[in-house]
Amino acid sequence: MSIAENVAAIRAQIIDAAMKAGRDPKSILLCAATKTNDAEAVREAIRAGVDCCGENRVQELTEKLSQNAYAGVPVHFIGHLQTNKVRQVVGKVDLIQSVDRIKLLQAIQQEAARQNVIQDVLLEINIGNEDSKSGFSTKEIWQILEVLSDFPNIRVKGLMAIPPICQNSVDSRKFFQEMCNLSVDIMAKKSDNVFMEILSMGMSGDFAEAICCGSTMIRVGTAIFGPRNYSRPHP
Ligand SMILES: *Cc1c(COP(=O)(O)O)cnc(C)c1O
Repeated sequence: MSIAENVAAIRAQIIDAAMKAGRDPKSILLCAATKTNDAEAVREAIRAGVDCCGENRVQELTEKLSQNAYAGVPVHFIGHLQTNKVRQVVGKVDLIQSVDRIKLLQAIQQEAARQNVIQDVLLEINIGNEDSKSGFSTKEIWQILEVLSDFPNIRVKGLMAIPPICQNSVDSRKFFQEMCNLSVDIMAKKSDNVFMEILSMGMSGDFAEAICCGSTMIRVGTAIFGPRNYSRPHP
């Protein structure tokens, strides 16, 4: 299937999942996870109507930005971000989805202040408390909210999570539901500088479950572009 056909099929599944959950399908954004895919594939996905692109690696982001690959849609950073690389990301992307530690908040603040910009971010939650994954724990996040007023050049737009891989939809829904509840609880607290507008969760294998539990942004790679080829030199 072509990228356009894949995107159309995903759109149909988004509508189906949203209807089942009694939600407006337009309230769910489709973010193309573009890692390992070249500028031409990215452009094809944009022509097919994805709402935004998410890049994982700074090098790939820089390369594809220089090729004008994301023209027409917002670009997000969704991968692990090293503090020594924030300069190549802050002010270059519309949203950094993967803010996972206080040191990174500090580095983003410093760079955003230097450029005199406001950087939109999501806070990543390690919802399954997995050692292999980064993100704030559901306990830690409350302390982070307390100090966000120290970061005037950062605007928190919501939460992102990559839950554990589950064998069945009942288990994965438990994590997605927990994320949704957390987002509602944080919104109710009305902290300065915090807007819970985006709940970024759901990937190729589980986005229907995520939509059912309140996701407003799904990040989809494989289902759009096909299996990733990591051996190919990155564009
Ligand atoms: C690669 C990636 C995705 C998409 O994963 P697929 O299973 O290929 O849809 C989503 N989010 C993040 C953070 C990723 O790195």
